[in-house]
Amino acid sequence: MRQHIFQTIKAFSVSFIYLFCGFHLSATSKENYLKSIGWDEKVSNPTINKSFASDVEDIRKTDLDQVISDFHMLFGGGFPHSVFVTGASAAANQPLLSAAATLLGHTPELGSYLSSVGTSTNDSRNPQFVIFIEKESVEGHEHQLAVFAHEYYHIYQNAPLLDQPETAEPYTWVMEGGAALMETLYVKSTPNQYPYKQENIAELLALCKDYYDQYPSFQFGTEQETHSGINPDGIYNYNLATVAMSYLAHLTNFRQVLWPDWYSRAHEIGFANAFAEHFGMTKTEFYTKFNNFIRNNSKENIEYIAPKTYVLSTLLAEPDLNDDDSDGLSNYDEVVRHGTSKSDDDSDDDGFTDGKEVLLGLNPTGTIANFVNAEYIGDDWRKLDGFGYYYEKLSPWYFHNGMGWFYSPSLEIANFWFYLEDLGWCWFNQSVFPFFFQNASKSWIYFRETDSDLLLYNAGNWTSQK
Ligand SMILES: [Zn+2]
Repeated sequence: MRQHIFQTIKAFSVSFIYLFCGFHLSATSKENYLKSIGWDEKVSNPTINKSFASDVEDIRKTDLDQVISDFHMLFGGGFPHSVFVTGASAAANQPLLSAAATLLGHTPELGSYLSSVGTSTNDSRNPQFVIFIEKESVEGHEHQLAVFAHEYYHIYQNAPLLDQPETAEPYTWVMEGGAALMETLYVKSTPNQYPYKQENIAELLALCKDYYDQYPSFQFGTEQETHSGINPDGIYNYNLATVAMSYLAHLTNFRQVLWPDWYSRAHEIGFANAFAEHFGMTKTEFYTKFNNFIRNNSKENIEYIAPKTYVLSTLLAEPDLNDDDSDGLSNYDEVVRHGTSKSDDDSDDDGFTDGKEVLLGLNPTGTIANFVNAEYIGDDWRKLDGFGYYYEKLSPWYFHNGMGWFYSPSLEIANFWFYLEDLGWCWFNQSVFPFFFQNASKSWIYFRETDSDLLLYNAGNWTSQK
């Protein structure tokens, strides 16, 4: 399955190329003009002029409309720009494509990307964004909706950076990882007809772990700050950058990572400083954390940080840090990190609150055998897996079919104190069971449900208690 996914991603890899040309300007009348028409200012109801080359199919126009209106809703507005959409092979725009190839030192693969034209002093064209979309689509793997989400998100990332100094230039892994993460979340959260719904984040996390296993000396870091290093050998589609951004969201939250307004701060203090200020850690600290996280965790632990919801409005909302059900987890963490209910303190009804399960490293969405969900047999008898049959009618005295009568003030498996006539007070919880602790002798007893023996461990020997 993994191999299959990997091959799929490789086969349909799309090179999303973002061009920075046109943004390294000193103050010019053109730039002042751009500012005057609101090029860099988000407004709640922007006018978007869309034009399409003749090679663009109608369904792409619908897709773009959907992305624009969804993004305006999500981000509380947009930028009053003109957008021109064309197939990558459109002859009229080939010079720009070629210029991009020269600038980047290689020929772009057939792909999709965003550029801006008419923004430099000598460019007499009307300023607009140009989105190139790949004309060909592989059957069953339509991804133009993802392309639009990716490229249109770049507009939000870039708008605050008009006339940026070089030090404000966002790192490529942040830029492309952000756009790729956004595209993935967007397509998964938006109703659409496309059979290809983007890879999910858990699969990308697993692929990343495979990559680290395959390349033991690989370290994510400064190399990924540039276009040439963003996809090291064996990585496609900005997958590594997407995972890094997902981990950054795990350390912080999705709003903090994907809401692009903070880029304007980079304009003032440089990107590295803005990063440190915004996330509360330097980029180097982040690289170290990220590499350690992927290297030193099991694949299961790594996959667990994938968001448990793909509802973008939730992910991009200001995190709700209230704890409605008082289970020790914020509403945001319940919905986004754990997939638990924010109005039920024990989402899986196993007698452990969600917060306690997270604290103990247990699964808050999977039932743990506990007295509250012990199977009712009939005539006041219950059966708990591993513990056996017990009679509950005379609670807090219970009769166990192996141990006999025991007393327990609260049948709570997380902290189970009980009194036996022979042994006195004993204790266990779900992580030490089937061992009991005998308080009087300070020794451990091994419980066997099958033959109702209790074995006392003493000086290296087990002796039967019955
Ligand atoms: Zn991109």
